[in-house]
Amino acid sequence: MTQQTTADLQRLDRAHHLHPFTDFKALGEEGSRIITHAEGVYVHDSEGHRILDGMAGLWCVNLGYGREELVEAATRQMRELPFYNNFFKSTHPPAVKLAEKLSQLAPAHVNRVFFTGSGSEANDTALRMIRRYWALEGKPEKQIVISRENGYHGSTVAGLSLGGMAPMHAQGGPLVPGIEHVRQPYWFGEGREHTPEAFGRLCAQAIEDKILALGEENVAAFIAEPVQGAGGAIIPPESYWPAVKEVLARYDILLVADEVICGFGRLGEWFGSQHYGLKPDLMPIAKGLSSGYLPIGGVLVGDRVAETLIEEGGEFFHGFTYSGHPVCAAVALKNLELMEAEGIVEKVRDDLGPYLARRWAELGDHPVVGETRSLGLIGALELVADKAGGQRFDKTLGAGNLCRDICFDSGLVMRSVGDTMIISPPLVITRAQIDELVILARRALDETA
Ligand code: PLP
Repeated sequence: MTQQTTADLQRLDRAHHLHPFTDFKALGEEGSRIITHAEGVYVHDSEGHRILDGMAGLWCVNLGYGREELVEAATRQMRELPFYNNFFKSTHPPAVKLAEKLSQLAPAHVNRVFFTGSGSEANDTALRMIRRYWALEGKPEKQIVISRENGYHGSTVAGLSLGGMAPMHAQGGPLVPGIEHVRQPYWFGEGREHTPEAFGRLCAQAIEDKILALGEENVAAFIAEPVQGAGGAIIPPESYWPAVKEVLARYDILLVADEVICGFGRLGEWFGSQHYGLKPDLMPIAKGLSSGYLPIGGVLVGDRVAETLIEEGGEFFHGFTYSGHPVCAAVALKNLELMEAEGIVEKVRDDLGPYLARRWAELGDHPVVGETRSLGLIGALELVADKAGGQRFDKTLGAGNLCRDICFDSGLVMRSVGDTMIISPPLVITRAQIDELVILARRALDETA
């Protein structure tokens, strides 16, 4: 693609395209990088640069780019039946087969799925289901959902209300009522005066304190990502989830594990909650379900909730035109079949995850790195101005964004959340490509310093 064409596209982009999560004015001044094609773990821009995609698109291209089998699955399905809905008494083979496959892959107590078009819609659906469940159980006062500060559950009004992103709340207008937030288990950011294990227990205690303050009879559910993704790849201390599990069991509070990022192999298990031995009642999913090739999400529904909704519920007044879209479902099914056939999840657990952990930890010796952490194929670096004291950079410097831009210019996509640098590469990355990622990250850190 010529220089001229890039400039033309950038001009048209500025003139007509409002990007998600973007300062529209700043984009107008800087222009966008135009990604034109991709293969494996690399994307290419219109200027001829090849960039190692350390973020799997947006935490989703788990199987990597350019998988012909997924293209074929989409084409075949588009020819056969491009659309039909799943409302009332109709359905189609791809939706049924995908539902069956998900039930096979999910933990034993999860045997049903409600399809959506995205992760945000999945969390909206989870909220509707939770409240419906308790009403049907004869406890309609159980309405409140406890969530976490800095959690991310989507961009719809229910999604952003469930999430705990302060800037989103500030812009969102009145939020959905009945959602309460508690502190997040972010040791490096908020708990360094404690040991990680003591801090994990304190964060679980905060959930119990909130339940008691609200009255356990009013609390319906607790929602959380097994590992917070968008908030900064926050891997909780080992003590956190076992303590949370105990609290939820003590007061009979449902658990919603948002698996939109952690699901489909990211943490080395099919679902992130399995890594922590959790037994969620609901599991919102999306992203890696189709490796991002087409938009599809859903809620995996545990037997406890499903049986009540089915036996007592009557019509559930909820659903989307594209719930279980046949082409998206066909691609998702093929994606899961390929992941199974190629042993992708096991490779992440037994080989790539431990390898990344070793290589990533080496960056801990860098003068601007205060902490490294990783689990499976998700990782973070905490940037610090003063390594000995663990002091963060002055916020006005924008060190994280600077590091992100340097990375991009030198051929690596790494995401920044404040001064936390994040990676979440395709699960098909090789050891040699992990080496390349670490070299590029170190170079970017050198330039940031
Ligand atoms: N839940 C989590 C944990 C996410 O990370 C995201 C997106 O990043 C969502 C929900 C929302 O998904 P979507 O952007 O598909 O609506």
